[in-house]
Amino acid sequence: MKRLLVLGTIICLGLLLITVALTAQQAGQGAGAQGRGGGGAGLGPIGTIQKVTDRLYMIPGAGGNTAVFITGNGVVIVDTKLANNGPAILDQVKTVSNKPITHIINTHTHGDHTGSNQFFPASVEIVTHENTKTNMERMDVFKDPANKNGLPDRTFKDRLTLLSGPDAIDLYYFGPAHTNGDAFVVFRALRAMHAGDVFATKGQPLIDTGNGGSGVAYPETIAKATAAIKNVDTVITGHTTTGPLKWQDLVDYGEFNRLFLEHARKSLQAGKTSEQAMSDLKLPEKFKDYNIQGGRGGPGGNFNVIYQELQKK
Ligand SMILES: [Zn+2]
Repeated sequence: MKRLLVLGTIICLGLLLITVALTAQQAGQGAGAQGRGGGGAGLGPIGTIQKVTDRLYMIPGAGGNTAVFITGNGVVIVDTKLANNGPAILDQVKTVSNKPITHIINTHTHGDHTGSNQFFPASVEIVTHENTKTNMERMDVFKDPANKNGLPDRTFKDRLTLLSGPDAIDLYYFGPAHTNGDAFVVFRALRAMHAGDVFATKGQPLIDTGNGGSGVAYPETIAKATAAIKNVDTVITGHTTTGPLKWQDLVDYGEFNRLFLEHARKSLQAGKTSEQAMSDLKLPEKFKDYNIQGGRGGPGGNFNVIYQELQKK
């Protein structure tokens, strides 16, 4: 089980050992597979807080990117990295604000985004999509009574606005992609967003079917998001550590995922293995900086996951 907990993080980040990732898939990525994240092999230590725009920062490393939003009355953080990073997150926040942390938003269930929730006092309101709450309740770490304060206090189904005026944060849900509880978090006045692991990096989609993710729905979910969300220029991704990306990068990522799924369907129909699908994949020039090879899910990449999903239909 301990190995599975670590593997949950690997599925989430998807950059790591091929054989280990394959083992995770063979193990079914089932309920409870996402956990503490353990040592987070290869995830690196917590980075230095970076300014994104006025009142908004990001802290890279030690799991997913943490967004830090300074409001009139406090600080809202989005995602809490792997376990045991609470003090380090707080240290980084203190370099930009003395205000107390009032809210945590988790973009999804994975242990490299929820791992340090329980460090923060019970008075901090934790907000997630309703399916993410259900997924988190299945994680061993949150079954421990000592960590119950790390579970969500408030959930939403399709949309929720937290705070108001210049502090308004719009949370959106558009359907399954990385998991079945992926929240898009928009800092309205700043024209900025945290996209979580729906857009983890410029690379293959990370699909956690054990937590309700779907490679088939993935492109449609991004298309719905980019059609419905207005007035965003800057996008903090789940794991790009060098800084935020642009809105157009998310739009392009939707197109990439549409092409990726189309190629999976055609390759499956043509009787090709997922490894052949991966080696045949040709992409437009605009995706030349994407990290397609050498990564996620073994030689067949995430075509393995999409194939399994297509074969079930
Ligand atoms: Zn994830």
